[in-house]
Amino acid sequence: MSPHRNVTIIGSGPAGLTAALYAARANLKPLLIEGIEAGGQLMLTTMVENFPGFRDGIMGPELMAEMRAQAERFGTEIIQGNVTNVELSRRPLKLEVSDHLLYTETLIIATGATSRLLGLPSERKLLGHGVSTCATCDGFFFREKPIMVVGGGDSAMEEATFLTKFASKVTIVHRRDTLRASKIMQDKAFENPKIDFAWNSEIEDILDMTKGFVTGVLMRDTITGERTELPVDGVFIAIGHTPNTALFRGQLEMDANGYIITHQGTHTSVPGVFACGDVQDHIYRQAITAAGTGCMAAIDAEHYLDHIPEDVNAELTEEA
Ligand code: NAP
Repeated sequence: MSPHRNVTIIGSGPAGLTAALYAARANLKPLLIEGIEAGGQLMLTTMVENFPGFRDGIMGPELMAEMRAQAERFGTEIIQGNVTNVELSRRPLKLEVSDHLLYTETLIIATGATSRLLGLPSERKLLGHGVSTCATCDGFFFREKPIMVVGGGDSAMEEATFLTKFASKVTIVHRRDTLRASKIMQDKAFENPKIDFAWNSEIEDILDMTKGFVTGVLMRDTITGERTELPVDGVFIAIGHTPNTALFRGQLEMDANGYIITHQGTHTSVPGVFACGDVQDHIYRQAITAAGTGCMAAIDAEHYLDHIPEDVNAELTEEA
């Protein structure tokens, strides 16, 4: 592997792989570094019905395998590695990847976002055994069973509404008495006869760790402090996402929630560094929008390489 690259991409979801495809076809010989969760959030999805071009839908992992093969077909080099440090204030940009040093003229950040969890030991233990962060992946397992959805935002309303296709009853557990979700999503949930609400409520524990599957929850009223045990077969956590940006903190401009701020397409606050997909998008968060911004990032990187600003060139160090 050459340690000096034109284009390096971190992340292998739809954004990263689309950026790789475009950069490879532009003959930029991109290097794509994929982390432990290769393929991103679509690897946790079953049928994807809203990615244009697949009229009968396509399974998430299959879509990612196709995208990966397409990016490789045009010469993308893909390596597995853990990026432990980046230096974006020098030229070329410097990356530490699993104990190796790498220098790159441009960097495309496509590290995505991760579902937030409540932080209960029982939640971790029972993840995949009745606890889920993905209604589209796991809803099917709860046919005619009572379940809960935690959260008061659009994700929670969307997941709860979707889950009524399967579950006998869906209880939305929210820590306050007003929802954060948009009016239209709230109305949809309120109108659904299978959905009810547990207001001012927090899940204190998910039962039953000893059995190894979900039998119910211990809920606490946030106003009175009263505790109640409720039987359910599934708990879906929909309390938002955290962008995977810890690596870039202090080096790139981010919003209050840690999402990378982009301008003029996918440009970040550092010349030559571009961001695409969920790491810079807390609104749309779709595979197709991630892929779209991945394409934009590759084109932005190509333009940048064609016209590296003189002031940046002047800063080039000879270290690499
Ligand atoms: P969000 O808007 O940040 O909402 C997160 C919800 O989870 C909030 O109601 C919050 O409660 C609750 N919450 C957070 N931490 C919690 C904790 N530790 N315990 C209990 N509850 C907790 O996140 P989101 O719903 O994932 O939406 C993110 C963005 O994506 C939004 O901009 C949304 O509009 C967008 N989105 C759009 C669609 C759509 O239009 N189809 C679908 C999904 C998401 P509080 O309200 O008390 O803070």
